[in-house]
Order: sequence, then structure tokens, then C-alpha cells
Amino acid sequence: MFDKILIANRGEIALRVIRAAREMGIGSVAVHSTADSDAMHVRMADEAICIGPAPGTDSYLNKAAVIAACEVTGAQAIHPGYGFLSENAEFVQMVEDHGLTFIGPTAQHIRTMGDKITAKETMIKLGVPCVPGSEGGVPDLESAKKLGEEMGYPVIIKATAGGGGRGMKVAQTAADMESAFMTARAEGKSNFGNDEVYIEKYLTTPRHIEIQVFGDGKGNAVHLGERDCSLQRRHQKVFEEAPGPSITPEERAKIGKVCADAVAKINYIGAGTIEFLYENGEFYFIEMNTRLQVEHPVTEAIFGVDLVREQIRVAGGLPMSFGQDDLTINGHAIEVRINAEKLPNFTPCPGKITAYHAPGGLGVRMDSALYDGYSIPPYYDSLIGKLIVHGRDRPEALARLNRALGELIVDGIDTTTPLFHALLAETDVQTGDYNIHWLEKWLDANMAEG
Ligand code: ADP
Repeated sequence: MFDKILIANRGEIALRVIRAAREMGIGSVAVHSTADSDAMHVRMADEAICIGPAPGTDSYLNKAAVIAACEVTGAQAIHPGYGFLSENAEFVQMVEDHGLTFIGPTAQHIRTMGDKITAKETMIKLGVPCVPGSEGGVPDLESAKKLGEEMGYPVIIKATAGGGGRGMKVAQTAADMESAFMTARAEGKSNFGNDEVYIEKYLTTPRHIEIQVFGDGKGNAVHLGERDCSLQRRHQKVFEEAPGPSITPEERAKIGKVCADAVAKINYIGAGTIEFLYENGEFYFIEMNTRLQVEHPVTEAIFGVDLVREQIRVAGGLPMSFGQDDLTINGHAIEVRINAEKLPNFTPCPGKITAYHAPGGLGVRMDSALYDGYSIPPYYDSLIGKLIVHGRDRPEALARLNRALGELIVDGIDTTTPLFHALLAETDVQTGDYNIHWLEKWLDANMAEG
């Protein structure tokens, strides 16, 4: 096992990894930009090293600087967290070439799943159900129009290299095809340097259900059930729960096994998430994320396992500490993302925290790097905390979330906390009756943007 690992990230996820390492008796190295000298991850790690100026591209995304930081500090492995370099195959290759260990999947797995067309082809071969659509890339507008007619509208045009909701456009009718096709292509090109696109049937009322998988890299893998992340704004998740309120134990066992078998067959190592749209009792694969997800704590809560510890174990050559039969669901968990954003427009609002109080008590977990007097820098993601609650059942988890939100104090800036108070008052949220469009519609009706 490693003596020391470096965390190539910041904020709550850096703390999350430092905590797991410390419980395992492993030393931790934080890296930071000049804007993050006072950040909590710098204070909490055993060692810290500055790797560049404020912009992410010059620091947290600077591959050579991260690797140099490992060499200077003697760290043997790198945990990438999520975002930044976590799904960068070139970086993983560099890490391996320097004799270091990447705590995550191989460069090859990241490459395969990072290209959505290749990912879909791979999943079809592995027996995972996919959204009906084009076979591979669609070369030109003519072919796109022809496919649209054959498949029937609405359809969605997606950049194969897309991510974070970018590079996707819906064509409701044939009249929309030209602009949707051209825009998806242009966004793919400008954001990801790749203009290849493909087409899928656009599902109108699906839920977003994702399956957590975990592999040991030696052909063994398990699933840890699903998370329902249907409450989204602009394709970004804001509220996640496990188990999914619409999924039966039989459905879970079936789709879970399909996913675990698929990743076992490709010798996948570490944590991964297979994302599906779920409509009328059917699952349709959309993409696989080859990293730890922001919302992993809801899975940890109901299964009572530490996914980061497990990632570090398998990266260090140890076997997984649980098998499928050890994994049973206990209760219900919900996570809400607290962002430094001003409603109703969700405008980022970095600034100085004049008072901070984290909620506590039974079944409450607050993952955050905030502290009294901390100044949130304007350069990074606006996620400042994740509030996770766990109860014996969904009603208990909802009541606990309401109670915990009431205890949370973040003064000095605006946050998305009021959104969750309002959502918890909605019958559909209370009963779990929502799909991926519910929140957008609710925001239009209740929080007209100013
Ligand atoms: P990204 O990599 O940008 O996150 P995804 O393929 O994961 O893109 O899709 C993100 C979201 O876009 C989904 O959660 C869903 O809300 C919507 N979406 C994607 N594909 C479809 C589809 N075929 N039909 C309907 N909605 C879709």
C-alpha cells in the first residue's frame, strides 16, 4: 500500500480523499493554486504544494506541475477527485510513464468511455441496453435528416466528445434539424476539439438513473445499486437520492447485474458510473463516467461503505473489501448541492463567508471546505458543499433534510439553499414523482429569471 498520495483537486472532494487516506494511515499531499493558499484542503493535508496561478488551466489542470509535485513530495499515487484531470487519458498515461499510480481506471478505459460513440458501441457489445439511434457517427446534414425521418422526431444530436451538458441539441421536428445538427457540431468542435456527432431518439419523460459499479481490474466487479438524479437544471444535477423511488428490487438486481458483468468483462478497475435514462420500465444507456461522482455519498450512506477507501485499496493492489453478497441497502439517502449562486438566475456569487455553521445530528453529513472567514475565489466551480442525509426510509430522509437545511448557516454570500426549502414543500418531490424535465418546468413557473 502507498505511504503517501497526492490529491489533484480542491474543495470538498480534496477533503473527502484526505479523510479516507488518513483513516488508512496514508499521508496526503494537497496541491493548490495561488488563489487557494488559504483553502481548507491546504490546511487539512499533511503537506501542501503550490502548482501555479489561479486559473484552473494553469494549476489544477497543469499535468506537468501535478506530476512534478509528486516527485518533489515523494507521493506514490494520485487521486484526481472529479472534474479537472479525472477523466484525462493523456494525464493517466503520463502518470504511469513516471512510475506513479493513478487512483482510477486505465487510460484505455477512460479513452473508450470518453468518446460517446465508442462507449455506446462497447456497451451494446457488452449487452447493456442503449437509446435507439444512429450506428456510430453521422457524417452530414443529409444523413441526419434521413435518420430523423426514419427514427421519428424528436431526436437529440450529441457530440461524441461532449460533456457537462454541452454539445447536445434537440430537434423537435424536421424543421429544427439543420440548426440542431450544426450547433451540436460547432459546440463539439469549439469545446472539445471534435465535431463528430451522433443521433439518438429523444426520450420525452425519462428519469435519470445511474448505476454505481466497482471493479478490481482483475475481472471481478460489483454494483452498488442506483441513484436517481432526475432533478436537473440545464442537464446539471442538483438533488440526488438512493435508492431511486421508482426502481423495484427486481429491476435493480437485473440492471445492476448487467452493469457489473459488463465492467467485469473489460477488467475495469475502481469506481465507475453507468448512466441511464429510464422510461416506461426500460433502461437506456447514455454514458459511463470513469471516476468518482459528486453524488457518491448517497450510495455510501445506504450501503455503509467508503468508496474512496476502496478506490485507494484496489489501486494499491489489494482486493476489494466487499463482494456483491455483502452489499445490502439500508434506508434512504438524499444529497443536495449547495452552490454559491444567487437565485433566481443561479448567478455565481463568490465572496467572503462571514459566518458558517454546518448542520449535524443523526444521519447528517456535510461535505464542504468552507470555514468562517473563508473567501470563495471566483475561478472555480460554484459547488461549496454537499448536504447528505440518511434515514430509515424516504419520508424520514426528507424530514431530516428539511431539518438539516434549517440548521445550515452560510452568511456573506447567496447560496442555493432556499431552492431546496422550496422543493421540499412540493408534493411531487415528497412523493418522488418527477422526471428530468420536472425542475426546469418548476423553475419556469416559480422562479422566473430576472
Ligand atoms: P453529458 O455528458 O453532457 O452529461 P449525457 O449524455 O450524460 O451528457 O446527458 C446529460 C443529460 O441530457 C441527461 O441526464 C438527460 O437529461 C439529457 N439527455 C441525454 N440524452 C438524452 C436522450 N436521448 N433523450 C432525452 N434526454 C437526453
